[in-house]
Amino acid sequence: MSSKVYFIPLADGQTEADQANAMGKLFELSDAASVVAENDFVAIKLHVGEHMNTTHIKPELIREIVERIKLKGALPFLTETSTLYKGERENAVKHLLHAHRHGFGIDNVGAPFIMADGLSGTSEYEVAINGKLHKSVKVAREIMTADAMIVVSHPTGHVAAGLGACIKNLGMGLASRMGKMRQHSNMSPEVLNDSCKFCQKCIKWCPENAIVEKDGRAFIMTEKCIGCGECLAVCRFDAVKYDWGAESGFMQRSMAEHAYGVAKEKDGKCIFINVLVDMTKDCDCFNVKQEKMIPDIGILASTDPVAVDKATMDLTAKAHGKNLAEMAYKHHDAMIQIHHAAEIGMGSIDYELIKF
Ligand code: SF4
Ligand code: SF4
Repeated sequence: MSSKVYFIPLADGQTEADQANAMGKLFELSDAASVVAENDFVAIKLHVGEHMNTTHIKPELIREIVERIKLKGALPFLTETSTLYKGERENAVKHLLHAHRHGFGIDNVGAPFIMADGLSGTSEYEVAINGKLHKSVKVAREIMTADAMIVVSHPTGHVAAGLGACIKNLGMGLASRMGKMRQHSNMSPEVLNDSCKFCQKCIKWCPENAIVEKDGRAFIMTEKCIGCGECLAVCRFDAVKYDWGAESGFMQRSMAEHAYGVAKEKDGKCIFINVLVDMTKDCDCFNVKQEKMIPDIGILASTDPVAVDKATMDLTAKAHGKNLAEMAYKHHDAMIQIHHAAEIGMGSIDYELIKF
């Protein structure tokens, strides 16, 4: 069955005020607020961007959503989970202070920020899904307490999954720490001795202290590695090698199954919004200022997380010849996550684009 994906185009380089205006209009024209009832706890899942990131979705757009949810007499809150890697979002205390610095404080957005997975990522809930990889998945507990969910995603390329959009924002972004580790469990990187300059950056950033010095080079202790990919991300000498073919596929499928676990008990109570603005090669977790790879396209909304990601791939391909994932990491087949999500019953890759 075909799903509806609503679309407001945006010319490249619009101001934050113009983007916010488009978000408000899309929310109203798509009747997104119909998933919310009076007194509902409404989780707004977002990503506030790492310390140096400047291309994350701006708080002005989120405020538009918050205001419209409040008009329904519901109780919106912003939500996120702690990261596996070390950084400004590694626990609830750092994450909330950082969110405030990036403009996501209650004074600016109008809703409180409540971490979905507790103080350090361990507050979780196990959801039975009967998937192809997992019989059950571990997701952030407070997301199960919420009555409705608005998932606001910023599509980008992704170093391990090819595409980071709605399915990733749900699957990785709302998994508990254990859930995240499980999605990475098939990743086992190794250091290429000839390329390693022993700058020690990977040693500093590895969250599990799994990297040590051996013969003047970095060495990864496989038994301690959780496959988070942080060493790959920080190495500037291409000295960390992953077997992308098998491992990205597993990660994408596992991510789709975790996404399914997050959304499946909220049937009819979710809206998925993809903001196709400032799309970069790497995701907003990267602690660097990035340039956008392609001109802006607009904002999409749907009740179907699979359709909204498929539309993201199609619209970027139509505008630029190659889809976002192909432009960012051509060695990945990022359609794996989309097809797998459709196969396990999360949504449809067939959709009707309704342009305003
Ligand atoms: S970051 Fe790269 S070059 Fe530096 S020590 Fe680690 S593997 Fe070697
Ligand atoms: S060695 Fe493993 S745990 Fe450490 S940063 Fe690399 S992928 Fe993550």
